[in-house]
Amino acid sequence: MFTDVVVIGGGPAGLTAAIYLARFHLGVTVIDRGGGRANSIPRTRNHSGFPDGITGADLVERMRTQAVNYGAINEIGEATAIERDGDGFVVWAAGSGYRCCAVLLATGAANNRPEMDLNDHDAALSRGLLRYCPICDGFEVTDQRVAVIGTGEHGSREANFLRSYTADVTLIAPSGPHDLNADQRQTLRDAGVDIVDGPCVNIEIGDDDIVLEVPSGRRHFATAYPALGSRIHSDLAKPLGVEMSDDGCMVVDRHQRTDIPGLYAAGDVVFGLDQISHAMGEGGVAATTIRNDLAERRPIRREARGQSPD
Ligand SMILES: Cc1cc2nc3c(=O)[nH]c(=O)nc-3n(C[C@H](O)[C@H](O)[C@H](O)COP(=O)(O)OP(=O)(O)OC[C@H]3O[C@@H](n4cnc5c(N)ncnc54)[C@H](O)[C@@H]3O)c2cc1C
Repeated sequence: MFTDVVVIGGGPAGLTAAIYLARFHLGVTVIDRGGGRANSIPRTRNHSGFPDGITGADLVERMRTQAVNYGAINEIGEATAIERDGDGFVVWAAGSGYRCCAVLLATGAANNRPEMDLNDHDAALSRGLLRYCPICDGFEVTDQRVAVIGTGEHGSREANFLRSYTADVTLIAPSGPHDLNADQRQTLRDAGVDIVDGPCVNIEIGDDDIVLEVPSGRRHFATAYPALGSRIHSDLAKPLGVEMSDDGCMVVDRHQRTDIPGLYAAGDVVFGLDQISHAMGEGGVAATTIRNDLAERRPIRREARGQSPD
């Protein structure tokens, strides 16, 4: 199978790129295994253009439909390898090889979850008892009782951020005593954040609250934000020897090019603001760069009407 561009990942970054690429009259195949961060959003209310909000799954489905309407091919499956092939690549998925001139990695990242039953986790997420992104939905917890499950720099930053939404913030260490230095403790105390040692176990969801068990007892909250870090989905690119940050984010230039010619990256797999709008913006930039880089290698021109290409 040959196509101009293979996009790996069908979230906001990959699908925005696919819409642009298809409308540039380039061949584009999107390989997507489903799931992903955007698909897990119960209802986004900060994404502009949707005054009543929209579920992540609906948003992704609209984008996929738009890409397919312009000729993008959507393949469901997991991309398992990217190999160099001359000055292009072969992407392997479900036993098939997709030969192409350029690859866009838009595989996103996944949040580390607290220890709890997966069904309970997903139910809590859909009901807003568990949330992962204060930038996205801190507004929804205004003046509510909020826990942050985390510690260290990440946990204390998240707890401080949430103080601009509510005065009732508790920072709970996930697996034992807190790992906070004196400055972090002081900043949290000054902000009025309650600091509670873990481990945080037996997470239960109630009718309208979430219950966290810590050594000092069971605590009830309107919402808990796990701040436990994330896994960046960049493993596919590692064998190519591409430059990555220490935490596995793809390093790109301001046009979304990696240091491997023909390999581009966009969205949460790249270091930056993990937001739909940002992922879409990077997808648009990546697609336009890919188009222009390909045009340097071979002219992208349409035949005059009535003439068929040889
Ligand atoms: C609970 C939650 C709520 C959020 N709420 C908001 C919000 O309200 N507003 C906002 O702006 N942002 C929100 N975000 C952040 C937002 O979801 C992400 O920033 C955005 O989805 C990033 O888009 P992406 O395309 O980079 O990655 P993703 O949306 O994660 O899409 C990546 C896709 O790549 C696929 N993939 C990965 N590896 C492979 C592979 N090897 N082969 C094939 N496919 C692969 C994944 O399955 C997925 O479909 C939220 C995040 C979470 C977790």
